[in-house]
Amino acid sequence: MECRCTSVDVLYDSEAEAYAADHLRSDGTAFVCPDTGARWRAEERSRQQVLRQIEPEKHLSRRPQS
Ligand SMILES: [Zn+2]
Repeated sequence: MECRCTSVDVLYDSEAEAYAADHLRSDGTAFVCPDTGARWRAEERSRQQVLRQIEPEKHLSRRPQS
């Protein structure tokens, strides 16, 4: 799966699950992007899966890449 850690800081439900499963690695407490080192936290909110980037300002780029 393509890395979106520099353009997205929150994902929901099936998109969150797929991104965590296909792209991120767990370090025991958080999910980590192997490409950028961005860290993500999985949350569950009223039955909705939420994947939220930790300190996204460190990794998000304001300009679209490429
Ligand atoms: Zn990534």
